[in-house]
Amino acid sequence: MRKNDLYVSFAVTPPSGIRSREIFAGEARDDPTLQVVAEGDDGVTISGMKMLATGAAFADEVWIGNLTPIDDKRAGESITCALPVNTPGVSFWAREPYERHARHEADYPLSFRFDETDTVLVCDLVKVPWERVFLHNNGAMSRRIYIETPANCYQNHQSNVRFWTKMGLIVGLASRMCQANGVDRIPAVRETLGRLAALEATVGGLVNGQIEAYEPWPDSYATPNRRIMYATLNWCQEHHTEIIDALRTLAGAAPLQMPASIDLVADPELKDRFERWWRTSSMPALDRLKLYKLVWDLIGSEFAGRHMLYERFYAGNSIIVRNQSDREAPWETFHATVDGLLERVQTPNSSQ
Ligand SMILES: Cc1cc2nc3c(=O)[nH]c(=O)nc-3n(C[C@H](O)[C@H](O)[C@H](O)COP(=O)(O)OP(=O)(O)OC[C@H]3O[C@@H](n4cnc5c(N)ncnc54)[C@H](O)[C@@H]3O)c2cc1C
Repeated sequence: MRKNDLYVSFAVTPPSGIRSREIFAGEARDDPTLQVVAEGDDGVTISGMKMLATGAAFADEVWIGNLTPIDDKRAGESITCALPVNTPGVSFWAREPYERHARHEADYPLSFRFDETDTVLVCDLVKVPWERVFLHNNGAMSRRIYIETPANCYQNHQSNVRFWTKMGLIVGLASRMCQANGVDRIPAVRETLGRLAALEATVGGLVNGQIEAYEPWPDSYATPNRRIMYATLNWCQEHHTEIIDALRTLAGAAPLQMPASIDLVADPELKDRFERWWRTSSMPALDRLKLYKLVWDLIGSEFAGRHMLYERFYAGNSIIVRNQSDREAPWETFHATVDGLLERVQTPNSSQ
């Protein structure tokens, strides 16, 4: 990937809502889970669906694998491989692109530029040559490949750095919006801004902690600290909704007071009315429009709604994310502290 500067999306989750293999009304289910259906000297043939290949519409290749463990009885699903996106039989079923409706960057500044799209990967009898297969027929290893190598750690350290950067945008926007609303000097508003700034610094501390407390793993390499990295994932998953809600609360109805599109400036009469009546003492009308459109793309647009789901689920549901912290925790050390304390606790002598 590095040598050829490839952009690779990845699909490592079985299809949502249709994972059950129950039999419907006596009929055997047409199982849509991606699996190997044939194997030969030249490679394997795979069929089925996998979700949710974010960015696949822009990618060179797609990585197929499993972030959740696979039962050894279903080892055919453990297939882990990478394919060019134009491999015969591969298709991507994309959700509605939000960028398509953003006619002007100023109307939806984030949707316009940053909609990476999400797609379901569908493979219909796709031939995968052996040199593109990383793993086959090994249920347990299909998950261990991520956690017994630094793969999951590097990937999610990057996610945490991304979240920290996003926090800087949110906090800066909250402050600018309060200035535009003329409420930024009110003590109660300053407290909210102070709290948001503290949360931003918390993620910064967590990211720096991953680096400071790096692990010499594997041999002669340095990898961000796994426990702190997983703790940060959990923190971000728990706090994103609350942080966006604070921004929404500070916004009030201001974003909805803005007209539908910046294209009104093409009409001199409308432009004149807008510039005279929508401006405030601290900000010209057009700057206010741009500001509140940006706020809306973080709290209310379809792009914003997608991000609410993304931050909740991109690394797996909360059970998966917390399981990583459970697995990596030094339970023996924690238990030793408790046990050491209990050992020192004196029991009253029965003769007393
Ligand atoms: C915007 C977005 C982008 C994504 N991008 C990618 C990507 O690029 N590549 C990729 O592979 N995946 C991607 N994902 C998919 C992600 O991996 C999955 O969403 C995630 O694994 C959770 O699976 P799910 O959505 O089926 O939800 P589920 O696991 O079905 O969870 C839904 C709800 O049910 C609850 N639940 C599930 N099981 C239990 C249980 N046993 N007990 C109690 N509660 C339970 C969960 O806590 C959750 O509240 C993306 C998801 C989103 C939303």
